[in-house]
Amino acid sequence: MTATYKNRRTFAIISHPDAGKTTLTEKLLLSGGAIRAAGQVRARGERRRARSDWMKIEQERGISVSSSVMTFERGGIIYNLLDTPGHEDFSEDTYRTLTAVDAAIMVIDAAKGIETQTRKLFEVCRLRDIPIITFVNKIDREGRDALEILDEVQEALALDVAPMTWPVGMGSDFFGVYDWQKQKFHTSSGDRGGAYARTLEVSGLEDEVLTGFVFDRIMDQLTENVELGEGGYAAFDKESFLEGHLTPVFFGSALRDYGIDDLLDFIAEYAPAPHSQPATGGRLIMPEEDKVTGFVFKVQANMDPKHRDRIAFVRLCSGTFKRGMKLKHVRAGKSIAVSAPIFFFAEEREIAEEAFPGDVIGVPNHGQLRVGDTLTEGEEIHVTGLPAFAPEVLRRVRLGDTMKVKQMRQGLQDLAEEGLVQIFKPDLGSNWIVGVVGMLQLDVVIDRLRNEYGTEIGFETVPYSTARWIECDQPTLNKLIEAHRMSVANDRDDKPVFLFKNSWEIGYVTEKFPTVKFRETREIV
Ligand code: GDP
Repeated sequence: MTATYKNRRTFAIISHPDAGKTTLTEKLLLSGGAIRAAGQVRARGERRRARSDWMKIEQERGISVSSSVMTFERGGIIYNLLDTPGHEDFSEDTYRTLTAVDAAIMVIDAAKGIETQTRKLFEVCRLRDIPIITFVNKIDREGRDALEILDEVQEALALDVAPMTWPVGMGSDFFGVYDWQKQKFHTSSGDRGGAYARTLEVSGLEDEVLTGFVFDRIMDQLTENVELGEGGYAAFDKESFLEGHLTPVFFGSALRDYGIDDLLDFIAEYAPAPHSQPATGGRLIMPEEDKVTGFVFKVQANMDPKHRDRIAFVRLCSGTFKRGMKLKHVRAGKSIAVSAPIFFFAEEREIAEEAFPGDVIGVPNHGQLRVGDTLTEGEEIHVTGLPAFAPEVLRRVRLGDTMKVKQMRQGLQDLAEEGLVQIFKPDLGSNWIVGVVGMLQLDVVIDRLRNEYGTEIGFETVPYSTARWIECDQPTLNKLIEAHRMSVANDRDDKPVFLFKNSWEIGYVTEKFPTVKFRETREIV
């Protein structure tokens, strides 16, 4: 097989809402020649939203609930950009999408620094040692001092930072971006602060191209930054970056097109090609293997309201996938013919004829495929490392019509298998409890149970604030249940879970049961 996977770069953008992720996405796609005009990312989103009923919620709130995939090409490299919704009410999907990427761009607003959402998403990347490229956005506006931002990233995230470029002025005195290693000055062709249009080669900071154009005080500051930066921060080191210990930092402006090409060039040169994927039995699936393997990291329902189909997003781990292939759905022990796989280009969806490791294909199905499932050419393995995350919001389900218990349970079970919510069945026969990582997911659940299962439900608060998966031997589990019957429940796969009231209780119970491990994540296999 040709090593086509080597030119794949599968990545995500993580950020806090408003930092500029949508704008950057548009510019990346534009730079890759994938879309004709900026603005289409939003427009396309709106069209798609209009198609689907339950996505009305997104429309009403003006946010995007579900992640999608955008593929574009530039200079022989195929970029697969997996979108992670950045709203506060993001869902587990957001987290899980990060299990299907090989690198991430972290977008920070130059005036705001590291914000809560960025930090949460960063922690998920860190769980898997995903290499992170930092993009400090909006430097065309008054922001914080570059050194201050670098220090914040370094301290808040405990990462080495390697400045790759420096801003030349900010706000009303914005002249451009200086690449101190390649000695290039990206600036506008016209007025100060205009859109990026040209790159000038310079011989150094004394070059007249810079000094003759940029205000003296800004040159002084730039010189100081470059000098301090050289001594005060780590030099870029590829190994350290790939291991997730060091983040290269680019300054730029998504809106005005500064720093976009720097980012893509960097990703092409240094970001990892598809990596190996751990699986059960200590097996490591290598991308260069001949046989196809892949795993489902996301399931989306009702993309087309006329059909009750679901699309499973499958990340390929090895082999060359060809349309029409029969793949083994390992969990179900059945073979499925993938006759209409979908490729997600920036503008359109297309039937995929061929796909390589790192690529994402959409597999239409009637609900057989769920998050965490593995597809192979026959091998009995399950991909590992796809966690379920401890929910941050727990609610007890209240049923409007008690005659509909069965439908409700079926609905919740289905939604849990899709990965939309987690369900916890208390040991003491009371109503099920659902867990989510963002409040908005609760509205989606109510809406979908009404529309698809004909049941009206509501939610009641519970005294619990989080859940942890219990790991211990059976006798210890029995003792734990005896002591805390009210707090133990089973998840959708009947794995035991402890529902905790607060962090104090976590500490207390952990101390009383030192041999029990209370896990924040659980592998879904
Ligand atoms: P998202 O919520 O992270 O997707 O952020 P958006 O891309 O929607 O951007 C939020 C706001 O910031 C919008 O009004 C953008 O026009 C603006 N914005 C994004 N990038 C820049 C930038 O580089 N400079 C300036 N001045 N504004 C920007």
